[in-house]
Amino acid sequence: MRVYLDNAATTRISEKALLAMEEVMRESWGNASSGHGMGMAARVEVEKARNIIGALLNVDPARIVFTSGATEANNAALRFYAMEGKRVGQNHLVVSGIEHPSVLEYCKYLKRAHEFELSVVKPEDTGVVRLEDIEREIRPDTAFVAVMAVSNEVGSIQPFGAIHDLCRSRGVPYHCDATQAVGHIPFGVGMDDSSFSFSAHKFHGGKGVGALVLPAACSFRPMIIGGNQEYNRRAGTENASGIVSMAVSLSEQSCNNGFLNRISELKQYFWKNLQEQVEGVILNGTLAGTVPYILNVSFQGVRGDVLASMLSERYGVYCSTGSACCSGDTMPSRVLKEMGFSDERAMGSVRFSFSRYTTEEDVECAIRAVSKSVSSIRCVDL
Ligand code: PMP
Repeated sequence: MRVYLDNAATTRISEKALLAMEEVMRESWGNASSGHGMGMAARVEVEKARNIIGALLNVDPARIVFTSGATEANNAALRFYAMEGKRVGQNHLVVSGIEHPSVLEYCKYLKRAHEFELSVVKPEDTGVVRLEDIEREIRPDTAFVAVMAVSNEVGSIQPFGAIHDLCRSRGVPYHCDATQAVGHIPFGVGMDDSSFSFSAHKFHGGKGVGALVLPAACSFRPMIIGGNQEYNRRAGTENASGIVSMAVSLSEQSCNNGFLNRISELKQYFWKNLQEQVEGVILNGTLAGTVPYILNVSFQGVRGDVLASMLSERYGVYCSTGSACCSGDTMPSRVLKEMGFSDERAMGSVRFSFSRYTTEEDVECAIRAVSKSVSSIRCVDL
């Protein structure tokens, strides 16, 4: 049996999204920029998808720029704000310490290559960044603020609406990496003056497709330069089938809001049983402050990477760790270290993430596998 509990890494494509994708590939495979009938058929699909996504997120479809995913969308947004800032002497960036590498590493690159000054804001031990801490760092020369909507590692929900309002009142651009929020929690309304990014494969769409939603009334300068696709905001032939899969999968996730309650119950059941059956298990983040589909826990005296590989190899249970492998050495999770935890706790963390396809049987099976694996790892280590 295979139990897939790594939905924050990627999700299985939905049947409807797959069929829609296939249909575009078979029937509307023209180049959306071609003026003839075949091109126009693809263009119709792309624009239909843009309108559907705009309506679902409550944003003007004209703000949506389709990209190859969230990494590109994050890079493109930050590059744009940094360039605009530089032109008026703004050389300072504010970023949270729990960002995905596509944001944090890009900010470090801006520091290294373009001499920006970086203020990296730590979260509280709940994994949530405090609004006051962001506010304190904003200066007249701040070119942008970047704080994600939901942590991909612990699932903690950030005060993105309040950060949007703060940045608007201070006249500072705000970019929000909403990759783990869109399709999972209400997101989009009230973010008119900010940009945000998301990626279809996180909500059962195809891989290699996502979007950057620009602030309303923004004269964006593209990162990828070439043809005039995406209204001159992102060159390159549109991935029409991927874009359609994104619209279909986002509609399904949004119509299926009932699934959130079920996932939330599964998560609580999983956590309750882990506590009952495994000694020395600690929750990272809080149950109330995290999205229903991510559960991050540490096991005392157990390395997360060792546990995750035993779960995969012996039991076919797939989950992930936040720890990174650097030339053979496992490093403690950067995000948990930012939350103020010890190396041991940050090395011992494992992320289980659920989706609407996760069954009760999956969860039962995973609990048994975790309990057995933790016992055998602890036995060997004695
Ligand atoms: N941001 C976050 C929060 C993510 O979880 C991910 C995917 N791991 C990304 C950005 C990158 O997304 P993509 O795979 O579409 O480039």
